[in-house]
Amino acid sequence: MIKRSFIGITAPRLTYEVIEEAPAEPMTVRPAKRITLLMDAPMEKTSGVLLKSGDAVQKGQRLQLFENNPVPCAISPVAGKIESVEPFLGIMERQMTAVVIALEGSEDQSRDTEFKNVFKSAGLSEADRFLRELPGRPDFSVFTRPDRPVKTIAVMGTEQDLTAVTQQYLIGTNIAGVKTGIDVLRKITGIQNIQLVVYPHMVQVAGSSGAGIKTVDLQYPAGSTDMIRMALKAKQEENTEVAFFTAEAAVAVGAALQTGELPVDKLLTVVRKDGTRQLIKAPVGTHVSDILEAVRQSVEAGDRVVLGGPMTGHAVFSLEQPITTDTDILMIQDHADLPEFSDIPCTNCGSCVRVCPVNIPVNELVRYLDAGEYEQAAENASLFACIDCGLCAYVCESRIPILQFIALAKHAVQRLKAAEEENA
Ligand code: SF4
Ligand code: SF4
Repeated sequence: MIKRSFIGITAPRLTYEVIEEAPAEPMTVRPAKRITLLMDAPMEKTSGVLLKSGDAVQKGQRLQLFENNPVPCAISPVAGKIESVEPFLGIMERQMTAVVIALEGSEDQSRDTEFKNVFKSAGLSEADRFLRELPGRPDFSVFTRPDRPVKTIAVMGTEQDLTAVTQQYLIGTNIAGVKTGIDVLRKITGIQNIQLVVYPHMVQVAGSSGAGIKTVDLQYPAGSTDMIRMALKAKQEENTEVAFFTAEAAVAVGAALQTGELPVDKLLTVVRKDGTRQLIKAPVGTHVSDILEAVRQSVEAGDRVVLGGPMTGHAVFSLEQPITTDTDILMIQDHADLPEFSDIPCTNCGSCVRVCPVNIPVNELVRYLDAGEYEQAAENASLFACIDCGLCAYVCESRIPILQFIALAKHAVQRLKAAEEENA
C-alpha cells in the first residue's frame, strides 16, 4: 500500500489556534469570471432536471436541481448565466453535480425575491427549503424525525480542525449576530436548550449570546462536533438528538430571517505556505484559483492545496474546484514541506492507540484495512466509532495515511450496505 502522511513537516500544533484579539477585517475576494456550485446528487437523470445551460440566475436565487426533489439545491451568490450542468466526482468518488455560472451584471444587482416573500412567517419547513445551503450549511433535517426528537441545539464557536479561526472570529466580532441566530433558532424550532460551545478564552464574550455556555479544552479534538455530541448526548434520554450549527450558520440563519436576504459569502481561513493566516470572505462557489490569486500564493509542481484543515482536509485535484458552504480552511503546502513516501510497515508501536480519543484499537484496525477486510474492521475494530480526527495518522511513525484508509473503508462498507438494501 502507499504510505504517506497527510501532514507536512511544518506539522500543526495539537491545540487549536487561539485568537485573543480580533484580527484584521477579512479580505474580500470576488470571483473573476465564474463560480461553481456543487450539488450533492448525481447528474444521472435526463428528465425532470430543472437547471440547464443558458438559464439566467439572480443573486440569492434558490436553484433546485430536480423537479421532484427539493434537496439537491444551492443559493446562487451571483447574478449570471448557467454555463454548464455536469457530473462532478467528489471526495471518495461521491457522485455530485456541478453547476457553473458565468458572472453577468454588477455587484449590486437586484436580488431574487422568492425568500423575501415568505421570510416573515418562516417556520422549519421554509428554513429547510431556503437556508440549508447558506454559509455554514445549517442542517434542519435533524428536526424532521419524530422518533428521535432534538433536545439540545449546540452552536459551535469552536473549530473542526487545527489552524482555523473562522468560528472564533465570528464569536469575537459578531456576538450580536450569533445572538440573533440563537434567538431565531429558538423561535423556529421551539427548543429552549441552546448551548454555545467555546474555548475558555471566549467565555466572557459568549456570555451575551443568550445561550448556555459549554466550555471545551483547547486540546484537539475536544472542540469537534463528534466530541461535543458525545458529551451532550450523555446527559439526554436515549433516542434523542443534538442538533449542530456552526456560529457562522447561526449568524447566516439569523440574518436571513431578520432581513429576508440570503447571505451568500463564506468566511474561511486561508493558511499560506509559510504558515501565516488570512481570513477571507468569498462567495460560495468561488474557485480556489481566484482565492490563491487574491492572497498571492502561487502553486508550483508538487505543492498541495487542501480544502479543510491539516488533520481532516482533502487535497484538491484542480484549482478550478470551488469552496463550498462548509469550507472553513484553505491550506497551501509547499512541496518542500511535504514528507517523502514511506514503505515502512506498521511497527505496532501503539502510538495511534494511545492517542485515539474514542479508544479504538487503531493498530488492529490498520491491519484489517491493510488487508482490505473492511466489514471485519467494522465488526471487530470499531471502524464506525472513528470520529475522523486524524490524530492516529499524525502520530504514526510509519507515516501510514490511516485517516484516508478509514475514509475509504467506511465508504466501501456503506456502499455495500446500500447495495444490499437495494437488492433486498
Ligand atoms: S481518526 Fe484515528 S485517532 Fe481519530 S478517532 Fe479515528 S481512529 Fe481514533
Ligand atoms: S502508530 Fe502507526 S506504526 Fe504505530 S501501531 Fe499505529 S499504525 Fe502501527
